[in-house]
Amino acid sequence: MLIARFFRNNEGALNALTKVLDIGILSEKLVRLAYPELQRYTIDVTWRKTSSFAQIRWEESSNKISIRISRDVKDWHDAAVTGLISHELSHPATKDKGMSELNTDGDVLSRGLGPYLAVERLFAGKYQDHEIRSGKDRYLGYESIRLQLTDLETRQLDALLYKVGLIPVKPSAPIRISHDIIILDNEYRTSMIIEGHRIFLPEDMDNPDIKLVECENAMNVYADEILVAKLSLSEF
Ligand SMILES: [Zn+2]
Repeated sequence: MLIARFFRNNEGALNALTKVLDIGILSEKLVRLAYPELQRYTIDVTWRKTSSFAQIRWEESSNKISIRISRDVKDWHDAAVTGLISHELSHPATKDKGMSELNTDGDVLSRGLGPYLAVERLFAGKYQDHEIRSGKDRYLGYESIRLQLTDLETRQLDALLYKVGLIPVKPSAPIRISHDIIILDNEYRTSMIIEGHRIFLPEDMDNPDIKLVECENAMNVYADEILVAKLSLSEF
């Protein structure tokens, strides 16, 4: 139902890899159809140069959400971008249930957007679950998302894969790119969560550019060019 409505509104964009998707309009539609509780927020979604596929930031005390989507994702099919933005919207929607990636993916599935999330994970190189925080949390992979779909959603996923022209294949090596970064601003501190790790940011940082640089078996995390953490490469 949801998928049919999206595609009727978005038909011209389905095959248009040459045309840049209007992610502002897409996120408005997602909120209207699947995330009604986020309608009170002003949501700003922009294409940016980022080190992860997406970065989301919100302030506890205001109704503003900022989402940055990597410019590299412009090459993805619209269905995959829909899955990515759904995952980002599910972060503020599930903020009171703990900030786990698994809960966030579960929320996307519960809203009937699982077929899009499955396509997104193929573009993101996550065919199988991607464990983070030493197995305490995880991103769902294509394989296990598919197993959790209803019969109707499975048929919708197959129709999507046909339209996208994608055959699900397990990559020979996992892709070491951070999926997404969350920045939380409350009245005391600003912190970010990356691959399940919470990192506190210097006081005057509002919505910093986060850069990840691989260096001697570690991933250096920079916020506005300031080194804020070194994470083990095994976490990615
Ligand atoms: Zn996430």
